[in-house]
Amino acid sequence: MITKRANTLPHALTFEEKYNAIGHQDTRYEGIFITGVKSTGIFCRPSCRARKPKAENVVFFDTTQQALQYGLRPCKVCKPMEQLDETPQYVTDLIQELHENPYLRIKDYDLRNRGVEPSHIRRWFKKHHNMTFHSYQRLLRVNAAFNSIHQRGETVINAALDSGYNSLSGFNEGYRSIFGSSATVENSKHVINIVRFTSPIGPMFACATDLGICLLEFTDRRMLETEFKDLRKRLNAVILPGRHRYLDLLQSELAEYYSGKRQHFTVPLHTPGTDFQQIVWNNLQKIPYGETRTYKQQAVAINNPKAVRAVASANGKNRIGILIPCHRVIGSDGSLVGYGGGLHRKKWLLDLES
Ligand SMILES: [Zn+2]
Repeated sequence: MITKRANTLPHALTFEEKYNAIGHQDTRYEGIFITGVKSTGIFCRPSCRARKPKAENVVFFDTTQQALQYGLRPCKVCKPMEQLDETPQYVTDLIQELHENPYLRIKDYDLRNRGVEPSHIRRWFKKHHNMTFHSYQRLLRVNAAFNSIHQRGETVINAALDSGYNSLSGFNEGYRSIFGSSATVENSKHVINIVRFTSPIGPMFACATDLGICLLEFTDRRMLETEFKDLRKRLNAVILPGRHRYLDLLQSELAEYYSGKRQHFTVPLHTPGTDFQQIVWNNLQKIPYGETRTYKQQAVAINNPKAVRAVASANGKNRIGILIPCHRVIGSDGSLVGYGGGLHRKKWLLDLES
């Protein structure tokens, strides 16, 4: 996923070299790196004409995809999603439209209605940004929702909580479509807290209730919005950015896990789901660190040897990556097979544990 584009320079650039390169309208560095600006939440191409950000606010990425996963959105001035001189007008128009409304959902059907062939868009995004047009829209939406409240700070959220969420109705419709509908918000008795943080294999979202961690996923996971919706419904809850003691504990245990210093997690889990899912998810947690199982073995282990496909499906519905180690289940021929977080991450995790 993290594919570097053609790099003609003899060595990897240091932070200082990249920082010196920006702000000169110098196009030699185009395609080599992307500049992220934490203070404004946007990302730029190296030759952006906008005012040069302070070094402490800058983070560099290899690809636009990494910048999006990090939660940033493309700059209006330098338009980093477009290629210099070679972006077709219909792509420019779509990017512009999504810039004005990141919650818009432009489906293949809508594209055809505009006389745009969906496969052309798909190929353009794949070629220039190594992601689909739909993943681009998904990342924009979730980022916009998360950032809209995150940036308003904890006082806004506390005020909303104190008034029984009524002031949440002021939050925009796009936010509510992802983290809590207006009806849900007003009737909600429960809050799910959400944080975004970085990991060695990409940024992640984690959610917690007072019962435990209820979600841990990479931010580019395709099923993310479905999982948010499912959690909100099952727990009659609204999702709000904010800290939680279990989220703090999770992040410190995960940092140890990623550095190879931790094999077991102590943070409690909260896993609403069907009885069958609960059995499958429980059984996943019994696979020891450093080992793998096949779907068949997992089906046998729950005394339901014929339920291989149902076991695979319940694995796929696991919302708590890594802690409920669905990455330890592989195909009967030893192949890695599907993983919601992407096969390169599954491989990374299994290599870490071996
Ligand atoms: Zn820019």
